Amino acid sequence: MVSNSSVKFKEHIFSKVVVAFCLLISISVILGWVLELVGILSIIPQAATMKFNTALIFLFSGIILFLSKKNKSEFKSLYKALSYTMIFIGAFTIAEHLGLSFFSIDNIFIPDKLTTTNPGRMSPATAICSILIGVGFLGRISSNKAINKIGLYSFKFTAILSLVAIISYLLLIPLSSKTVFFKSMAIHTSGLFLLISTLQLFNNPNSSFHQILIGDYEGSKLTRKILPVIILFPIFYSFILIFGINQEFISVDFGLVAYAAIFIPLSIIYVSYIAIGLNKSEKERRKLGQELEDSNRYYLKRFKQGVDQVSLIGTLDINRNFTYVNELFCEVFKYGKDEILNQNISILRSGHHEEKFYTDIWKKVDSGEIWVDEMKNKGKDGSFHWTLTAIIPFKNDKGEIFEFMSLSQNITERKTAEESKSDYFKKLEYKNKELEQFAYVASHDLQEPLRTVNNFTELLAKRRTEYFDELGLKSLQYIQDATSRMSELIKNLLDYNRLDKDNILTQIDCNQLVKDVEKDLSMNIDDAEATLIYNNLPTLFGYETPLRLLFQNLINNAIKFRKKDIKPLIEINATLKAGEWLFSIRDNGIGISPKYKDKIFVIFQRLHNKNKYKGSGIGLAHCRKIVDLHQGQIWVDSIDDEGSTFYFTIKIKEHD
Ligand code: ADP
Repeated sequence: MVSNSSVKFKEHIFSKVVVAFCLLISISVILGWVLELVGILSIIPQAATMKFNTALIFLFSGIILFLSKKNKSEFKSLYKALSYTMIFIGAFTIAEHLGLSFFSIDNIFIPDKLTTTNPGRMSPATAICSILIGVGFLGRISSNKAINKIGLYSFKFTAILSLVAIISYLLLIPLSSKTVFFKSMAIHTSGLFLLISTLQLFNNPNSSFHQILIGDYEGSKLTRKILPVIILFPIFYSFILIFGINQEFISVDFGLVAYAAIFIPLSIIYVSYIAIGLNKSEKERRKLGQELEDSNRYYLKRFKQGVDQVSLIGTLDINRNFTYVNELFCEVFKYGKDEILNQNISILRSGHHEEKFYTDIWKKVDSGEIWVDEMKNKGKDGSFHWTLTAIIPFKNDKGEIFEFMSLSQNITERKTAEESKSDYFKKLEYKNKELEQFAYVASHDLQEPLRTVNNFTELLAKRRTEYFDELGLKSLQYIQDATSRMSELIKNLLDYNRLDKDNILTQIDCNQLVKDVEKDLSMNIDDAEATLIYNNLPTLFGYETPLRLLFQNLINNAIKFRKKDIKPLIEINATLKAGEWLFSIRDNGIGISPKYKDKIFVIFQRLHNKNKYKGSGIGLAHCRKIVDLHQGQIWVDSIDDEGSTFYFTIKIKEHD
């Protein structure tokens, strides 16, 4: 393979060499004419000289080739001016050759004293090449495609003309035997024309010359191999034969026969050699192609086997009728292949989705996009199946959709589980609402008779003391205690029930919050001579009233469940842990046996007689509900008689 960068590099070097040759030879020849150095003018003794005007043409060409790398507009004008001058010099020379000498261009710059016939005049071939090269240069920079093409042909013509002239030199054809056309074209003239024209053809990506020589196809490779041989061999061979004929070693007849006799078998041998090489590479290519095809087929087969085991696959024609379904498809939908083929896909509709669902699918797919979503289908036996389905449209070369593929995963199990789960949650939610309603109505309605009992016992105790002996008065006192306890209980129950309603998330400074609670509980704290230690509590987003209640309950319990002769010491701390605040409230009270550490958070569960420690058994249940509201958890660490530490977490909200 011809690598692109190496080709570019060679082009670059080649163009530099051509520019150097053009400038060097043309300047030398110009100097040769000025200083009359004959050797430089003709190189081969007795052969044609390079005329002054021709040297100018190459000087211009060298400048043009040099300028063509620069992209500035002022250079472009010079480039054009030089190209037109070359055409002009060539055209006037031709005119003179044709006898239309209304203006003599031959010796306009310097007189030619060395040539006898037509001094200073370039050969017709040189003049034509000058015009062609000028046109070629103009064609290269034109934006018109037709002119580009004319330019390309101009260079091709130049290459052919100069090659013929060179061959005439290589074969040592004497000047007298050359046609007038080539007679006065010097060897370096033809060489430079050949170099310039091949460089231009080589550099132009549109030229077939460029494509053939540089391409990576077999034809280009073949050309690169054959071209040097078919050019050099006949030249070399003709040279020997002509030399033999000129020296009269062999006759012309013998020369011609020998030419044919050697040229034909040698050509056959060379072509066969190349053909064998080509056959070998073709064989290799076919082998590789076959191997690739085999491996593709192998993996495609494995891939299909794998997909067939987990996916339901069907193809549909443009009318959405099935043209193919796989085994799993038939197995799930309980259709035989013969029964489903040619049936419309709508046969699988379950009635679960509205008509719009299906119109939306086909609107998307018909516009060339892939549709993917979950859908509920019905099998032949009436069974329902949820699938995650992709419907893929396939387009032909013209961009028209000619086929669809439906690729599905059976997700019935997951969907059924999801459906029953959501049914369960719906029922649970309903039951919870019912329970809340019941608790509210019960506690609210209980308040009224309780208040009546309370009022009347109070009235009796105040006004009718004469009717009651000591036992009667004590009994009244018991009734009053019981009703006020019941009233407290109902109030707590109502608070508990009301908890998740009407809460607003606000920024709370927990230091301030605990300070407020401390103030509210100051009587209890003073009575028990309790000490509260808290520092560096965070500011967080939460529900203020419930949080205050939470701290109040826990601090109150820590004071309430104190040891007999030990002053309560309560310590509150908070640490930040993976997206939540962890609070701890430690006391030095009576402690809790580990076996009760879950029970205490259940509503109405108490561990002590109400005579020993007052309370309703709602406090910690309430605390758990508040922590739930903040998406946290609450638990206790305690050993009987050794104090307790209550922990709870508060999830950090986005605003924190
Ligand atoms: P109450 O305080 O009204 O009894 P709670 O729900 O607040 O109800 O507490 C439930 C039970 O947990 C209490 O009766 C008590 O036995 C136990 N308890 C709560 N806090 C503490 C504490 N800090 N130390 C020891 N026991 C506690």
